[in-house]
Amino acid sequence: MQRRASLLGSIVVAVGLLLGGILSAVAQPATHGIDVANMDLSVNPADDFYRFANGGWLDRVTIPANRPAFNTFIELSDENRTRQIDLLNAAADSGAYAPESDQGKAISLFQQGLDVETRNRLGVAPIQPILDEIAAIDSVDAYNAFLEGSAFKGVQGTVPVFVMADLNDASMNALYLGGPWLGLPNRDYYFDDDPGNERIREAYLDAGASMLGFAGVPADVAHARAEAVYALEKQLAEPTLTREQSQDVSLSNNPMSVAEIAKLYPGMDWTVYLTDLGVADQDRIIVTEKTYLEQLSPILAGADPAVLRDYLTLQVLWNFSNNLSEEMERVAFEYFGRALRGQEEQSPVAERVLGQVNGLMGQAVGQLYVEKYFPPEAKAAIDALVDEVILAFGQRLDVNTWMSPETKVKAHEKLAAMGVKVGFPDTWRTYEQVELGDSYAASVLSAANSEARRELAKAGHPVDRAEWDIPPQTVNAFYSPLDNQIVFPAGILQPPFFDYQADPASNYGAIGYVIGHEITHGFDLQGSQFDAQGNLANWWTDEDRARFLALNDRLVAQYDAIEAMPGLFVNGQITVTENAADLGGIQVAHDALLHTLETTPGAAAIDATPLIAVPAAGEATPVEAGATPAARVAVEPPFTEEQRLFIAAASVWREKVRDAYLETLIKTDTHAPAEVRATQPLRNMDAFFTAFGITPGDPMYLPPDQRVVIW
Ligand SMILES: [Zn+2]
Repeated sequence: MQRRASLLGSIVVAVGLLLGGILSAVAQPATHGIDVANMDLSVNPADDFYRFANGGWLDRVTIPANRPAFNTFIELSDENRTRQIDLLNAAADSGAYAPESDQGKAISLFQQGLDVETRNRLGVAPIQPILDEIAAIDSVDAYNAFLEGSAFKGVQGTVPVFVMADLNDASMNALYLGGPWLGLPNRDYYFDDDPGNERIREAYLDAGASMLGFAGVPADVAHARAEAVYALEKQLAEPTLTREQSQDVSLSNNPMSVAEIAKLYPGMDWTVYLTDLGVADQDRIIVTEKTYLEQLSPILAGADPAVLRDYLTLQVLWNFSNNLSEEMERVAFEYFGRALRGQEEQSPVAERVLGQVNGLMGQAVGQLYVEKYFPPEAKAAIDALVDEVILAFGQRLDVNTWMSPETKVKAHEKLAAMGVKVGFPDTWRTYEQVELGDSYAASVLSAANSEARRELAKAGHPVDRAEWDIPPQTVNAFYSPLDNQIVFPAGILQPPFFDYQADPASNYGAIGYVIGHEITHGFDLQGSQFDAQGNLANWWTDEDRARFLALNDRLVAQYDAIEAMPGLFVNGQITVTENAADLGGIQVAHDALLHTLETTPGAAAIDATPLIAVPAAGEATPVEAGATPAARVAVEPPFTEEQRLFIAAASVWREKVRDAYLETLIKTDTHAPAEVRATQPLRNMDAFFTAFGITPGDPMYLPPDQRVVIW
């Protein structure tokens, strides 16, 4: 229901794409590993490797009307969602779960969400008391007084508090103070005046005006009032960190006493606020947006109380829009679905509600999922694969040519200390505090507050690194710098990412690439600011850091030059951590595959010898563009092990995407677009060119002096 504060959002780095949902049956793979039906063998891989690896799939699939895109993540998420909906329905029918059990509550929450008739009949009634309180605000003092007691009313306001591992002592949880609630996706949308942003702002204002209508604002003034809120949001956004600044984590690390915070923002009674949150015993809060906090008082002092009321009203309406009437959901869809993601239709209600149940009681559903879909054989196979990739990363550190021995020792320490979570938690989260209310919105609020209280109660206590923050059925993977931990939920450990019955090359190219990507995040521009224990601390020599930054600069320039859609280029700086992780990810996956084939008798699916001899990297004889196929490595089934690895890697990132969504991703996502991720990391690898006989003059070719190898 609530969006996370910006630092929190950026601090856990995921491999994947933003996901939506759809109900569609996806057939089980007919084959294990690479399926040539998804490829286009008529295309020369040296000309267009993306098409060569994915042409069959690209020709076959269409983007469903209720989707912003279609890709491997969405395909698997669809399948997982169908499984979960079936599991919840079967669990309900079985009567095996008592209403007060966690699964019983998840089932009830799901069913309340599906009961759109009741939701439509109630309209905004479930949140009317909150709206009434907001409507009574007549001054900045009253605004602050409302926020002091509103922590559990579905409002983030202007000074949201959250808990996360301490940037300075990652073994302990600390209290944080974040930036303001903003309706647009990020700060840039308020300040960059390109036509795409104009379109998004218009959609936001139109939807905001309609939203205000649900709170009784007359249609003839609603748009002007939404515009006034937008103007306030712009003022609030101005002093917050830009996305580029946020990459320097130290700028978000401003520990202060409550007295110091009260000095910066005296309007609030901090004792009352922290008592309401249940964290009055904490006298140290890390302020992530210091400049913003300094400027907040004058901004609010200059604001019309009527605008402050509308600002809060809109927050509440947006936050609950998925839990009230279908009409409200449709209004929210016009902005989030149609404008930002290009979706033509909403997803089915079961899918939308499942997403909310997973966000609030994900582990209750996850238990059902894991029991049925994550067998012990899969767990054993993926554990072994993760170990191989970690080993390969360490071996690459040993032969790294730009890092000094003393920094390498520290890097090895960090790698050795890296925690690994695979599949599902040892101890399942429980949901005793969740109370089913007399409306779906009331139950959602109870579940959301139960999660919020669980988080807040951690402040000042040691971090439990065994805890899982995400449901195991999630189709994604994560690295958390504060825990120095990689996480691979059972949800992604499924075909086409991972198939314990498939050949090693296919698995290393797909999930191995993903695992390598997450490990590399420990050593990317942001992750490298944290040490083995997860503390924000410099473990680098100055010379090594300078060389590392220079390599990152080269990567920024390389990706800056990529035109992702007409007139819109990849932002090399914003995506540099993900791009470095992609580069490192495929490199370690490649090394891990070779090591596995060497050390595991019979592991190879086929003879690993290239079909014809090729020159070693750096010795390639220049070949003109359009050279005859005879000059190349034969590229046809059965592929060599290395070819299979690269084909699998490119297939992970196959995607069809709507223009509106691609534009949003370029402006908001820290990942490069999927099509870029499919081939650009490979183009930085000597082994890729060798495996496919790609030589100067080929469109896929990148000269050695332009290739970047960081990890
Ligand atoms: Zn990532």
